[in-house]
Amino acid sequence: MVEHLRHHYRIADERVLDAMNSVPRHLFVPEALRSQAYKDNALPIAAKQTISQPFIVARMTELLGISGKERVLEIGGGSGYQTAILAELARKVFTVERVPELADGLKQMIRRLGIRNVSVRCGDGTEGWKVYAPFDAILVAAGGPEIPEPLLNQLETGGRLVIPIGETQKSQRLVRVTRTAKGFETEDAGPCAFVPLIGEHGWKEAVNGG
Ligand code: SAH
Repeated sequence: MVEHLRHHYRIADERVLDAMNSVPRHLFVPEALRSQAYKDNALPIAAKQTISQPFIVARMTELLGISGKERVLEIGGGSGYQTAILAELARKVFTVERVPELADGLKQMIRRLGIRNVSVRCGDGTEGWKVYAPFDAILVAAGGPEIPEPLLNQLETGGRLVIPIGETQKSQRLVRVTRTAKGFETEDAGPCAFVPLIGEHGWKEAVNGG
């Protein structure tokens, strides 16, 4: 999987590749799908959600430019796979998951793997996690119609926010926002397809039973 990320997708950050190599993805995938855990696909998890494609996990993590000192906010923890990758790379990870069943599973996984630098909260991540703000990096793993204002407010100067943004729930563009002393700089990092970001500053509900 890691060689494919390096050569096919041109993921160049060795720290990201090392983290992808050391976190066992099969543990985050439903048992019936374990044989597919190291293929280049998103896979279904509970509550009609998905564990993101390895490439997109690597790409988003690389775009955050984490060096080791950061406090990171993750929205949409889901299976906890991306959370575990971030926990390898950053000082501290705060993750928010909307679906109680997934948030509970995530807490259990983190404990089971002996990861100690992650805090999990069940709730609407489009509001961020104000008591722990500001964050050096914010990763949103679900697609919204626009960038949630609270997340911009909770970003440290020099910090990066990576989020899929789309006019419909079907597809998005991956966007990286960097907060500078002067304001916010936005870059387009290509097309992507995520499950919808549901919340106060996201979509009001999922369409197509998603
Ligand atoms: N990185 C995760 C992706 C899970 S899919 C993984 O690889 O497993 C996206 C997740 O975002 C889903 O679990 C969904 O429940 C969650 N989500 C959607 N809207 C949310 C919101 N407003 N706040 C927190 N989580 C949200």
